[in-house]
Amino acid sequence: MAELVFFSGTMDCGKSTLALQMDHNNSARGRRGLIFTKLDRMGESVLSSRLGLSTPAIEVGDELDFWEVVVECLTQGGRVDYVICDEAQFYTPAQVEQLARLVDELGIDVHAFGITADFRTELFPGSRRLIELADRVQLLQVEALCWCGRKATHNARIVDGAMVVEGEQVVVGDTGGESAGVVEYEVLCRRHYMRRMNSHAARAASPSPDTLPFDLDVCAVPPRP
Ligand SMILES: [Zn+2]
Repeated sequence: MAELVFFSGTMDCGKSTLALQMDHNNSARGRRGLIFTKLDRMGESVLSSRLGLSTPAIEVGDELDFWEVVVECLTQGGRVDYVICDEAQFYTPAQVEQLARLVDELGIDVHAFGITADFRTELFPGSRRLIELADRVQLLQVEALCWCGRKATHNARIVDGAMVVEGEQVVVGDTGGESAGVVEYEVLCRRHYMRRMNSHAARAASPSPDTLPFDLDVCAVPPRP
């Protein structure tokens, strides 16, 4: 029975690596699939992992219709047994519905990979729709770690070294689009997310430059704006 599965986790938890592995496992068994991604760190039309592997992929613009792409492929005599969707948090809710339709009406397995929440802890629209529609939501086993060593559960946006909690939902790293600052992301545990304590701030607050404060209760929770 075909399924729509949403593999979710924080940034740095190995989602793209697993997406590539999933494609490899399926194609090794003679199955044929299509690979999609959006705003990959390596640029357009490529699915890349931090471990250095990559594969060509179809770039998902807002106008792309998954149903049309797959039906077109089938019409031209192609075979589609499965679809792999990376960076699925960036897809529109309508596109997620198209993916569900591929499962239900064409019997195609859809494996979607994405992060659930943005740097403000709010769900991405694509992830929200996936959680609502998926047959299964699977939390990835490879856990990213906060600088303190705890499991990282939150994605923080860092602009010029300082953590921010307001701004546009999608700013890809290093584009400097928002305020011409250098934009980076860092995964944190909830405790340090709530305290706005990224690794840079922790180093600055540490009594010794060589040791990070592993139990830093001295840092006050910043007031809400
Ligand atoms: Zn932490």
